[in-house]
Amino acid sequence: MVIVGAGDCGVRAAVALRDLGHVGPITLAGAERHHPYERPPLSKTTLDNSADPLPKYIVTPERLATADIRLCTSVTAEAIDRTRKLLRLDDGSVLAYRKLLLATGARPRPLPMAVGLARCVTLRTFDDALALRAHLRPGRRLAVVGGGFIGLELAAMAREAGVDVTVIEALPRILQRGVPPAIAAAIHARHMAAGVVIRCGHAITSMVENETGLHITLADGDMLMADIAVIGIGALPNTALAEAAGLTIDNGIAVDDCLTTSDPDILAAGDCCSFPLALYGGRRVRLESWRNAQEQGALAAGTMMGQHDAHRAVPWFWSDQYELGLQIAGLADEAVDVVRRDLGPDAFLLFHLAADGRLLAASGLGPGNTVARDIRLAEMLIARRAHPPRDALADPGVKLKSLVVAESPAARHLEGVVT
Ligand SMILES: Cc1cc2nc3c(=O)[nH]c(=O)nc-3n(C[C@H](O)[C@H](O)[C@H](O)COP(=O)(O)OP(=O)(O)OC[C@H]3O[C@@H](n4cnc5c(N)ncnc54)[C@H](O)[C@@H]3O)c2cc1C
Repeated sequence: MVIVGAGDCGVRAAVALRDLGHVGPITLAGAERHHPYERPPLSKTTLDNSADPLPKYIVTPERLATADIRLCTSVTAEAIDRTRKLLRLDDGSVLAYRKLLLATGARPRPLPMAVGLARCVTLRTFDDALALRAHLRPGRRLAVVGGGFIGLELAAMAREAGVDVTVIEALPRILQRGVPPAIAAAIHARHMAAGVVIRCGHAITSMVENETGLHITLADGDMLMADIAVIGIGALPNTALAEAAGLTIDNGIAVDDCLTTSDPDILAAGDCCSFPLALYGGRRVRLESWRNAQEQGALAAGTMMGQHDAHRAVPWFWSDQYELGLQIAGLADEAVDVVRRDLGPDAFLLFHLAADGRLLAASGLGPGNTVARDIRLAEMLIARRAHPPRDALADPGVKLKSLVVAESPAARHLEGVVT
């Protein structure tokens, strides 16, 4: 078994293969030089200059050794010979595979006018985070291009370090993709309160750097100066290897519900693949989320071992900014109705309903982990394709647990488990 990409998805798949009883060799080949680490801390704790910037390992080196998983770091897979089932690496070695998993992840979407400018950087790897962290000092000027999750998490950390932060977003609001307006507005307000300047609806027309800084000109003629700019305008799936091998690409490496590509011996999973999401009528999606990478890694391992379990997980995502925790379960974009439940002065949930009242998604924002338990319960309702009463969703006096139990009496055990 050979896995390309030693991120969350690839590592999870390697470990799961062993846990499922695979006895032959498992090779995990990754382009990065570090032992495999988690990415979510890179825009959060890794940027905190008061703490040691240690990567958070996905599994320890000892765990990989005990499972007899061969990890090759600093190697890039260059070509797949599908006829002879061989994978060529850039160090000249060739690996034979019975099943091959592509877990090649994604890379930051480039902003053409920023390419080649030393003061414009991106944040995807631990090395990126280390380089950026060195700039987060009081009085420095940081421009964050793109009001998405990574840019905003970075803005929060930078502000807490005393950096002057300006977020530039071309769209009319921050978090336009996948986040309901009410939550985006609350996050916007929290950033403003922290002193972040947010410029929405402003495209950048030019970026020029010299020894004094980076000169950014906006479409309305305004100009701002920064010492460094982080380009956070989304990510592109790493599909080049699959494409060159003739595999089908469709907003990522296209896979079926068991994560098999157009070649039955090659799978793809995690950020790099698009797959049919059964819970939403089989529409093809590509998710960039930590839990999805983990779940699909495990699912891919099962398929590599000959199982036929189809993907049926509910998409789930979280983001931490300042003291606030945001969580979203499900996909809200096809909802026609939103029900709000207030949990206190600073915390609320939104339930996103289809025209027939089916719960499609739930999102929540609040200090720390306030919304976590309710989002977990909402996720169970989403997975059951439930149609919970609108009034009950809006009423904080009605426990979501009771709605889950009402939906499926078999879930009565939850009354002890989810507290
Ligand atoms: C800064 C940051 C913060 C995030 N925060 C959150 C969060 O708060 N919540 C959340 O849910 N998600 C978050 N995410 C997203 C989450 O981390 C990703 O969805 C997840 O890491 C994807 O895992 P993956 O294994 O599919 O891909 P990746 O983690 O991208 O791993 C793919 C690996 O494959 C390697 N590779 C690519 N091509 C080749 C090749 N040809 N040969 C060898 N190796 C190759 C790459 O170098 C990379 O190491 C965050 C991501 C980033 C970057």
